[in-house]
Amino acid sequence: MVVGVRAHSLLRRLRLPLMIELPSFTPGPPIAISASSFQKFLRCPDQGLSHFRGIYGQTSRDGWIGQLVHRLIARDLTDGPIDDIELVARIEIGSTNLNFDLAAIGRPSDIRRAIAEAVEVYVQFRHLPRPELSEIEVSIVHDAGGDVTLKGRMDGVQVTSDGVSIVDWKKGPIRPETRHQLTFYGLLWVLERQALPNDLQAISIQTGERASFPVSIADLERTVELVAGLVHDVRSALLVDRQLSREPGPWCRFCPILDGCGEGQETVSLLA
Ligand code: SF4
Repeated sequence: MVVGVRAHSLLRRLRLPLMIELPSFTPGPPIAISASSFQKFLRCPDQGLSHFRGIYGQTSRDGWIGQLVHRLIARDLTDGPIDDIELVARIEIGSTNLNFDLAAIGRPSDIRRAIAEAVEVYVQFRHLPRPELSEIEVSIVHDAGGDVTLKGRMDGVQVTSDGVSIVDWKKGPIRPETRHQLTFYGLLWVLERQALPNDLQAISIQTGERASFPVSIADLERTVELVAGLVHDVRSALLVDRQLSREPGPWCRFCPILDGCGEGQETVSLLA
């Protein structure tokens, strides 16, 4: 990192760009880190490693509905309120990856129920007060050097006299790990736009709760360290074909390597 907090406020006053210096990463094969793979790794390093090995779990029903809700929200934010929500949901399913994961949802009647749930969540979204966004569905792909790519897609960005807020809607409640995801977006924003966001906002559609996390240079420094740690651990493990530490939790249920993980199986049966 090349600036401190006080130096940053000076840069802001002088409207000078904020530059972040990324470390030299442990060498190895190309690696693309998204906000979700970053979160996965922080939750359970070995599950994260399986993602970077190209072993992906089956999409969960909840995850599938979440993706569909996000497609509906993106349509709404871009084109305005949707009239025939179910029709638009079906069009979205037919024209996106959601189509490939239909088998994970089940039989046609299960699919109908899943679509109805997504429609219901979208209707809840419509009733929430929403920030006025300057940019919608902001995708950033950043070449971090050393064959490391950082990427993410934010739901929206609000610009006010206080600065920029990165906004993300959550289908469910706001969880502690949401902050990691949002700070990862904050890092991407600084790398691409050379300006520190004023805050990171998560809005829960389910509860209506709205959390605002301020962003500091120290938060971004910590995120850079975590990213560098991920690259080091993943590339080292791939080199000698070893596993990483395992941290069981509710996320084990949809882990692609659950069959070979005793800790995970125990956790899943306990939670069941
Ligand atoms: S089953 Fe659970 S503990 Fe085991 S690797 Fe997967 S997420 Fe980690």
